[in-house]
Amino acid sequence: MSVRIAVVTLFPAMVRDALQYGVVGRALTQGTVQVECIDPRDFATDAHRTVDDRPYGGGPGMVLKVEPLRSAVRHARERVPAGSPRVYLGADGERFETATARAALAWPGLVLVAGRYEGVDQRLLDTEIDASWSIGDFVLSGGELPALVVIDAIARLLPGTLGSPESAQEESHNDSLLDWPHYTRPEQIDGLQVPPVLLSGDHAAIRRWRLRQALGRTWRRRPDLLRRRGLSADERALLEEFKAGCD
Ligand code: SAM
Repeated sequence: MSVRIAVVTLFPAMVRDALQYGVVGRALTQGTVQVECIDPRDFATDAHRTVDDRPYGGGPGMVLKVEPLRSAVRHARERVPAGSPRVYLGADGERFETATARAALAWPGLVLVAGRYEGVDQRLLDTEIDASWSIGDFVLSGGELPALVVIDAIARLLPGTLGSPESAQEESHNDSLLDWPHYTRPEQIDGLQVPPVLLSGDHAAIRRWRLRQALGRTWRRRPDLLRRRGLSADERALLEEFKAGCD
């Protein structure tokens, strides 16, 4: 399984450079993920390679123009398999989550469009874009970091990208729970001990401890996730144990 992604960006080097590292870098080398960047400036028709202009109605900042961006998106579309959705990264988009990344695995490829300045002329979004994703309730200076976030999140779900296939299944937000705490050697440092159950070799007890911790953390930090997910009777009992201070 592999995925082809074309990123429309005014800063192709920023995207390319950041993709070189770790798990995603390996996926690129192996060819599991293929990423190509397309710069709208290459499609500008004037000597200054202009891609932006002042907003109609006034106000601060500049807006990305339709023509160069449209040509770039259409070119990007030719670089990925037919039927690949075109997604704009925008703070006003739908929230990008694990479920979104999983859904994207079924697609033949993906065109990601990174905005800059005040954003993109709405007519481009209305005619050339299939969906809009936000990576969180904050505003960044450009869509490049969100595009990288999306590529990373998708890449680590692809079979063969992570060292162990279980890794992605046991992470935060899989099954709407946050991750449990992790420990490695040494067993004791500065008086801080690894929880004894993790040294017990009792795999059933370790599984229950981890689930209890995951439920407790989610309840403490992200109760909205628990409300959305619901709990089985067993999970409810484990969460009560966590609340009662059981380690
Ligand atoms: N005027 C826009 C607004 O209020 O939503 C913000 C524009 S922002 C300065 C420039 C670009 O960064 C946007 O066009 C978008 O591509 C990207 N961007 C900023 N925050 C984002 C977020 N949370 N998720 C995805 N993309 C984001």
